[in-house]
Amino acid sequence: MRRLAEIPPTAGLPPRLSDLFASRRDLPGELSTQLGTARALVTCSGTAALMLALRVAHQRQPRRDVVVVPAFTCPLVAIAVHALGLRLRIADLARDSLDFDPDALRAQLDDRVLAVVPTHLGGRVTDVAAVNRIVADSGITVIEDAAQSLGATIEDRGIGLAGDIGFFSLAAGKGLSTYEGGVVIARDPAWLDAMQALQDDLPKQAAFERRRCIELFGYTLFYRPLPMRWAYGLPLRRALKRHDPVGAIGDRFPLEVPLHRMGEWRQDVGANAAQRLPQFLGERRACALSRLERLRAIPGIHIYADRAGERGVWPILLVRLDSEHRRDAVLDRLWTSGLGVSRMFIHALPDYAELRDIVPRQQCPNAADLAARSLTISNSPRLGDGDFEAICRVIEAS
Ligand SMILES: *Cc1c(COP(=O)(O)O)cnc(C)c1O
Repeated sequence: MRRLAEIPPTAGLPPRLSDLFASRRDLPGELSTQLGTARALVTCSGTAALMLALRVAHQRQPRRDVVVVPAFTCPLVAIAVHALGLRLRIADLARDSLDFDPDALRAQLDDRVLAVVPTHLGGRVTDVAAVNRIVADSGITVIEDAAQSLGATIEDRGIGLAGDIGFFSLAAGKGLSTYEGGVVIARDPAWLDAMQALQDDLPKQAAFERRRCIELFGYTLFYRPLPMRWAYGLPLRRALKRHDPVGAIGDRFPLEVPLHRMGEWRQDVGANAAQRLPQFLGERRACALSRLERLRAIPGIHIYADRAGERGVWPILLVRLDSEHRRDAVLDRLWTSGLGVSRMFIHALPDYAELRDIVPRQQCPNAADLAARSLTISNSPRLGDGDFEAICRVIEAS
């Protein structure tokens, strides 16, 4: 199944060359409107947004220094906690779920806990209300990690506002992109003022920002089927040949996080693209809902979808198979096929060798099981119906 074109592994909003010729626009204003809140703060990455949130929480409660995150999440979350000199604790997910296991979460809570980070994965909506109930009146800050779910809503309200602070990622491939970037919102404007003050003190780092501008320019040029094969497909195949799945999905990160302000040109480019985001998300939703039905007809497969009141977004279809063996057999055929089939994270956090020194060693069977049995199918508009059918046939035949 070799093809020349490469389908991106997630449905990033396709950039347009015209986005680069930015009329002066207001990215924080545009995003706050779309997210349904009065104000938003644009940061240099999702990780930086989380770090601002944690620093503000820590300023308010300097005696607390522990952050509890799900055992299945982006390694950058663990790195952010470590970079601030805070301590990481992890809690397992519930069985077959993307939500915290309530008992596992409770077991990590005490009066040293500064914050809990419920995480909306793969466009889905996690149950933040359940977390709020567990931490009620404990003084623990709830920070929603919505890095992968920009545009999702719960009961018709944008996610990110059910806890104290919410953040989103504008990294390459994550919905709307400024190549690297983030957005943070807060229920209480005083939290946002405090984060704004911290951010205003960050350096501009002109040389670093110039590099990001070039990367965004390259992303705009290369986020197309043929160049994607070279920019994404080639490194992926090389890493898999080396038996390095962590490198293949780009899950290996330096322990130091760049912190600066996003330049105005990139913000303008992002604001131009953001005009197209609501319509794009609507189209992706319609496509995903029809494809869900086809996938559900396959025995032994589970597809994560919305529950009552939730309206997630659809960068990918997150699929869980009935065994690791079957998942691996499907990936053997499809991971390097160029059809946009991939994995979300390779491991549960304790199982990343590169995070050994910063993640507590702890059994998290449900997170490990999700890592072992899940795969992702791109919901990019470039994945045509014929390609999607080809993917379904491979899963059926496995
Ligand atoms: C990507 C991601 C982050 C970090 O966002 P960046 O913009 O890449 O720094 C945090 N949490 C989750 C769940 C992510 O997927």
